Amino acid sequence: MTDQPFIPIYNPRPQYDQLREQLEATALRVLASGGYVLGPEVQGLEAEVTEFLGVEHAIGCNSGTDALIIALAALGIGPGDEVITSPFTFFASSESVDLVGAKPVFAEIDPTTFNITAETIAAAITERTRAIIPVHLYGQGPDMAAINALAEKHGLKVLEDVAQAFGARQGERRLGSLGDIAAHSFYPTKNLGAAGDAGMITTNDAALAERCRLLRVHGSSRRDHHTAIGYNSRLDALQAALLRVKLPHLDDWNAGRQAAAARYDDLLAPLPEVTPPVVAPHGDHVFHQYTLRVPSDRRDAIRQYMNDQGVGANSYYSAPLHTQPVYREKGYTVSLPEAERAAREVISLPMWPAIDRATQVRVVEALKEALSKA
Ligand SMILES: *Cc1c(COP(=O)(O)O)cnc(C)c1O
Repeated sequence: MTDQPFIPIYNPRPQYDQLREQLEATALRVLASGGYVLGPEVQGLEAEVTEFLGVEHAIGCNSGTDALIIALAALGIGPGDEVITSPFTFFASSESVDLVGAKPVFAEIDPTTFNITAETIAAAITERTRAIIPVHLYGQGPDMAAINALAEKHGLKVLEDVAQAFGARQGERRLGSLGDIAAHSFYPTKNLGAAGDAGMITTNDAALAERCRLLRVHGSSRRDHHTAIGYNSRLDALQAALLRVKLPHLDDWNAGRQAAAARYDDLLAPLPEVTPPVVAPHGDHVFHQYTLRVPSDRRDAIRQYMNDQGVGANSYYSAPLHTQPVYREKGYTVSLPEAERAAREVISLPMWPAIDRATQVRVVEALKEALSKA
């Protein structure tokens, strides 16, 4: 153990300090307004997100998980359908597919970006496939032009899981504006984080947007009139109002993450046992996580050593989804060696927009020591 302060994997405090007056005034204004659910704050956020992402429609909802579920339901995906997604992601990416009654099918990942690709997706297509959920893991997407071309060829829908990459671009366009529909999370640790759960759906398809709006509130477009079985996934006015304060700063914050990533790259260059993250040529990377690979046989010991030195390193994700007990129980026997290898090798380092060089030096010193001793 050390006497120095613990370095968390994510520190929400600098954003709060930066915008404290505005955030506090906003929270008090919403409290005094008496309007706590949906309403003008949510409509305001929806309008600002459409502008920011360059999409036609945005529908605020309760979480990123709900955004995935509602988007799938709005696409009409259900029992008998298969949806191809990544095995190397947060559980919600596939759980949402099960929750609408369909079957997630896991495609292999590309070892450099950790994302599924048009090639690996193509190998997983069957006659039951209806949609693809590309997950923009750690802050960068797969080549969306290639995935859209594949989807068009096979008549499949594309639902982007943007939970880890809000603000990232491919060419001139932002992730979340490239597929048929997209799910966003504003969970507090995400690149744009609320002070609680919050999520959003975006699409350029007016009919899909309408369907999502309906499903968000119990399948009801007016009082005492229900035209679908829906959900309660209303977004709170307080969360929307706080997100509206933060959104104008997001590009700066993502640039701060990119600068921090470049500093890590430099600091790690002398360490031959470490493979730093790769930014693919097809788009930018907004470093929700800065994730490297280390030798699998020592990964857990290295992470533990760093934690003992006061450094909050973590492994996202240490078990791929197809090996989770619930999917084993459902009979999944597929072998996906690259996803399984990634799950054994990854370590994410502390990352937030305002992390300073001195803190990063301490992180890398702990990693160096761990590599020699653990
Ligand atoms: C966080 C996350 C989600 C779920 O978002 P919540 O807002 O926590 O429900 C979905 N997919 C990925 C890849 C995530 O990282």
